Amino acid sequence: MTEEAPPAGTPDLPPSNGRLAGRRASGSPATQGSSGRAAQPARAQSAGGPRPVEPQPARSPTTTDSADVIVVGAGPGGSAASYYLATAGLDVLMLEKTNFPREKVCGDGLTPRAVRALIGMGVPMPEADGWLRNKGLRIIGGGGRIELDWPDLSDYPGYGLVRARTDFDQLLARHAEKAGARLLEGVNVSGPRLDEATGRITGVTASDGRQFRSRLVIAADGNSSRLSVAMGLHKRDDRPLGVAVRTYYSSPRHDDDYLEAWLDLWDGGSLLPGYGWIFGMGDGTSNVGVGLLNTSKGFGEIDYRALLRRWLAAMPAEWGFTEENRTAPIRGAALPMGFNRTPHYTGGLLLVGDSGGMVNPFNGEGIAYALESGEIAARVITHALARPTPDGREQVLQTYPAQLKEAWGGYYTLGRVFVELIGKPSFMQFATRHGVKRPWVMRFTMKLLGNLTETRGGDAVDRLINAVSKMTPAA
Ligand SMILES: Cc1cc2nc3c(=O)[nH]c(=O)nc-3n(C[C@H](O)[C@H](O)[C@H](O)COP(=O)(O)OP(=O)(O)OC[C@H]3O[C@@H](n4cnc5c(N)ncnc54)[C@H](O)[C@@H]3O)c2cc1C
Repeated sequence: MTEEAPPAGTPDLPPSNGRLAGRRASGSPATQGSSGRAAQPARAQSAGGPRPVEPQPARSPTTTDSADVIVVGAGPGGSAASYYLATAGLDVLMLEKTNFPREKVCGDGLTPRAVRALIGMGVPMPEADGWLRNKGLRIIGGGGRIELDWPDLSDYPGYGLVRARTDFDQLLARHAEKAGARLLEGVNVSGPRLDEATGRITGVTASDGRQFRSRLVIAADGNSSRLSVAMGLHKRDDRPLGVAVRTYYSSPRHDDDYLEAWLDLWDGGSLLPGYGWIFGMGDGTSNVGVGLLNTSKGFGEIDYRALLRRWLAAMPAEWGFTEENRTAPIRGAALPMGFNRTPHYTGGLLLVGDSGGMVNPFNGEGIAYALESGEIAARVITHALARPTPDGREQVLQTYPAQLKEAWGGYYTLGRVFVELIGKPSFMQFATRHGVKRPWVMRFTMKLLGNLTETRGGDAVDRLINAVSKMTPAA
């Protein structure tokens, strides 16, 4: 262990935002930050309000083992949080158990909501670098087929993207590093370090025995979130859960400019709550998969690989979705939805993305919500650490769950009703048969399921969806 300094982060130490301010006041931009790395050039201050300017007590140079904030997991949620924290001038240490590039089981689809979040982070996404744009959604089911362009909204770009997670996640992690975050790969976090007196998290321990200290910790470690579990935060059984499997095939459909969703997934005589997807990757392959909700009767017993094969067997042969053309194993994972782990803040730990069950129950989209929650968590932390007292910091940190509820709480409550409804095969059959053939129903459905409405004003559909989401209690 190479730790030398007192913990940078027990709650009653001076906020390290003061460190930046002090550094600037002393006119010594080349001094070292609390991590021991060369100080980053002064970055734009976040909206955290005035920072304390008193000179801070001298700290002995520390090692990479302590930071203002430790972020566990460098998926989209962890990288977004790290990017925003580093941009605000905080010392951020990301710990990722794998080494990039690495596989992540996903459909690789990014809606305009996710694209908006990426634009907000300043991620370069030129088409020449393999960022395949799409115009909208093609929905097939109940004997109908419809192509819906993404809605024309001032709040969101008019296009989505497809990007393999193998390099998408790496790219975002590097983007956070460029902003000043430090990333350690191959570090498997095994548990929290706790303050014995308060039970508050003061850092984390890695499976190789290394210790890391921080003032606050973000759990961005995905669906299983070992760290949340170790802090007593378990999954809620009263919230929806999805399971999905996917693989890749060489296919002439690889450059499709619509994301395609098939609603006809049958288990014997029952129409299942979920959909199959075909997303062209633009690299000669298509990402093909099926996802189901736990409101279906036989949820736990379904053989997902067999379901995928059955569904694909009915596809035109020229699309090439055959065993010979399969380029990757069929892999699956869970989609934790509708805030299926709460509370999102406890004793110095904030949950971001899948660790907090933030996948949209209406459509299974999780990347946008991981990115957005990372930004919200970073903003809360930046404001909290700018406060001079532990009580003041705690007061701000406690607002994190409320801010998430305000953002998606009502909408996710509606989503829970939706998954219950479509878990009834008769409802699913009725909705598919009568909905897909009616463009106005599908335009409404696309906005509702994609959570893509104008935040202020908008058309009647936007106003209706926003009003109902606001009126529905967040739980
Ligand atoms: C089959 C499938 C298809 C999907 N398709 C889509 C889609 O098309 N579009 C979409 O928006 N969403 C999709 N999702 C959901 C999406 O993948 C997730 O919501 C998203 O990845 C959540 O991001 P995250 O950063 O919260 O977590 P993750 O992406 O899971 O990242 C967690 C990170 O933490 C690391 N980690 C875990 N444990 C530890 C530890 N102990 N120590 C250190 N590091 C650790 C992991 O290695 C990983 O890098 C799909 C999900 C599945 C299963």
